[in-house]
Amino acid sequence: MTPPLGSASRDRLRIAIQKSGRLAEPARSLLAACGLSWRESRDRLFCYGESLPVDLLLVRDDDIPGLIADGVCDLGIVGRNELDEQAAGRARIGLAPAYRELRGLGFGQCRLMLAVPEDWDWQGPRQLQGLRIATSYPAILAAWLERQGIQAQVVELSGSVEIAPRLGTADLICDLVSSGATLRANQLKPVETLLESEAVLAGPAQGFDDARAGLAQMLLRRMDGVLQLKDRKLLMFNAPRESLPALQRLLRDAGPLIELPAENGEVALQTMCESAAVSWQRLEELERAGARGLMVLAVERTLS
Ligand code: ATP
Ligand code: ZN
Repeated sequence: MTPPLGSASRDRLRIAIQKSGRLAEPARSLLAACGLSWRESRDRLFCYGESLPVDLLLVRDDDIPGLIADGVCDLGIVGRNELDEQAAGRARIGLAPAYRELRGLGFGQCRLMLAVPEDWDWQGPRQLQGLRIATSYPAILAAWLERQGIQAQVVELSGSVEIAPRLGTADLICDLVSSGATLRANQLKPVETLLESEAVLAGPAQGFDDARAGLAQMLLRRMDGVLQLKDRKLLMFNAPRESLPALQRLLRDAGPLIELPAENGEVALQTMCESAAVSWQRLEELERAGARGLMVLAVERTLS
């Protein structure tokens, strides 16, 4: 049975994630990689945690900061853009920050940018004085304009911001950009970055004072392990001792090279590196420099 949302029972941790959209799948896989599993409920809103007392609430991303602020959820995975917008909105009406960013999660990267019609000659923020800027991020934009000492009109739109200049409802826009393809398709060009965003783990401004504290701590530790390993490989090989300097030079960008005893005057070596650092080409170079029995292994888990 689905427990009542916002109930006082606090021996389980409740995490809000996006129900569907850009962050939904990566958020679930990250939590699954942390060892969490769930029983799917039929309403697909609440997923009861099976392996640990950690439940999921599947919602719209816009609702996540509010759910944390109201204590309905304990943690949330949401874009920094959304979290900062709602924090800036609260600040404007004199409310204290109700949540904080606990970790950047390395997916959902995008930028909140000003974009102007392609034929504009951009000379800097001063040019914005008196203009109309369409955005779904009015609080972040207003705070930025204030810091720049510029008075411009913020036109709040909930979607399709990029067509506002063509429709004549605004002169330029402030919107999320990842590849820039949407801007190009609308004859706009990005000119200023207001925020570098990615998905983040958000939690309440104050920590927990019950069983949730231990659960949150365990989850964070596992998450750090997963994030640290993302894209990491373990490289192992043998080599004659005299090849060591050349091999070390080739592996300058890897982690420390660890030497283990081996036979026949050889050393066994291992190091952690980014996947990109152990391309086929790199392995062939290492082999030419004396490495034997090269092996690249995926690293599943680490606790450090
Ligand atoms: P919901 O139905 O949950 O309200 P949404 O339409 O607001 O969904 P998505 O488009 O799925 O949300 O985007 C979710 C988050 O993905 C954004 O808030 C942002 O942090 C991130 N993101 C990454 N790249 C982009 C992009 N190019 N455009 C918009 N958001 C992006
Ligand atoms: Zn949304």
